[in-house]
Amino acid sequence: MTAYISIGSNIGNKEDNCKRSIKALKELDKVKSVKKSFFYKTSPVDYEDQDWFINCAVEVETDFSPNELLKAIHSIEHKMGRKRDLRYGPRIIDLDIIFFDDHIIESEDLIVPHPRMHERFFVLQPLKDLNGNFNHPVLKKSIDQLIENISSSEQEIDRL
Ligand code: ADP
Ligand code: MG
Repeated sequence: MTAYISIGSNIGNKEDNCKRSIKALKELDKVKSVKKSFFYKTSPVDYEDQDWFINCAVEVETDFSPNELLKAIHSIEHKMGRKRDLRYGPRIIDLDIIFFDDHIIESEDLIVPHPRMHERFFVLQPLKDLNGNFNHPVLKKSIDQLIENISSSEQEIDRL
């Protein structure tokens, strides 16, 4: 199965935190390959009174089920010292499953495709690095087409 995971950090050495989480993903038995996007410096959305972020994304080939992958990324977040207090607030590392093949999942603890990804340029641009042709199974639009719907003022993120 091919899964896309969005990665972000806005505490400490943000770039290094993202890289450490990618290394941890590579070390998982059921993760067969990991391809990474460019890294971007981005402004916070939703809760704006916090530091800027580093964002990137990875494409993974995996034998995990979606729920196993969720558990694995939670474990990486936990090991890296993520504390869950303020939702949308500062985080040392955040790993979100954006797509899991063309699966549509709406369980209590896992929603895939990620429900807000298509509004977020900091998610879409790294996905475009990996595969702009990937089709959103609910919206039936490619990553490239979803990016066309984002206003140009929101497309200002800096590639490292
Ligand atoms: P957020 O990423 O929304 O800022 P958290 O990382 O704290 O917030 O995640 C909150 C919860 O979101 C997790 O406990 C997880 O069960 C749930 N969740 C639902 N869908 C997903 C998904 N596609 N990827 C990651 N977590 C998800
Ligand atoms: Mg998350």
